[in-house]
Amino acid sequence: MVEVKFLGSGNAFCPQGRLHSLVLIDNKILVDVPPTIIPQLKRENISPADINTLLITHWHGDHIFGFPFFILERKFISDRNGDYHLNVHLHKGGKEKLEHICELAFPGTLIDALKERVTFCETPLGDVINCPDWKYERFEVQHVPETDPHGYELKHVSGLTLLHCGDSGPCNEIEIRASRAHVVIIELGVPDEVPTEMHFKPSTLKRLANDNPNTIFLATHLYTNNYEEITHLPDNVIQVQDGDVFDINDQQQIRKIS
Ligand SMILES: [Zn+2]
Ligand SMILES: [Zn+2]
Repeated sequence: MVEVKFLGSGNAFCPQGRLHSLVLIDNKILVDVPPTIIPQLKRENISPADINTLLITHWHGDHIFGFPFFILERKFISDRNGDYHLNVHLHKGGKEKLEHICELAFPGTLIDALKERVTFCETPLGDVINCPDWKYERFEVQHVPETDPHGYELKHVSGLTLLHCGDSGPCNEIEIRASRAHVVIIELGVPDEVPTEMHFKPSTLKRLANDNPNTIFLATHLYTNNYEEITHLPDNVIQVQDGDVFDINDQQQIRKIS
């Protein structure tokens, strides 16, 4: 059994009722670390120290600017004795970037915690560290090139393939991987009238979902207000809300549990 919890479902602008998109897998793997990560965890009664792993997709503030707050909280509140280790999977050059924003946010304060309590892993594929049930492969997506945009293909020991597309517009990598995934977490960051190829829109997600009728698409990073449904999307697209929890059983059937 796999659990996927949405601690946030909004795009960078946090439309009313939504915090920045944030996915928690099996209560220990977080995809990205948005600016309001601490309240996002605490309002669900999740201790930051219980997070084993971060999977970082790209260098946009709505995805990484919570990192200094996350390390600060662990150091002084939830892991005061340094009993828990954090593993961060990210692409090349990422360690320096995250160390830099920690130094900008809390000069001098986090250097020891980063050195002693965090492992950075820049390998593009392999086992998720200390999560023996999961393997990952990081892949390039179509988004602002300066952000080194990536997604993650996650394979669970049960046979489940879970794709997290990060922030991206339509691209070959997503098309190929969506066709072999059971569940795809995908951003729906802008409405159709915005002239950009850097995000999925209702029309492009509709096409992708119709091309892959056996795959379930969990649409997040939404531009819409909470409780505002985009109409005319195929039945295999679920528009998530903050606090939604899904479980996926060993037959790869997905069910919303809250
Ligand atoms: Zn974003
Ligand atoms: Zn982005």
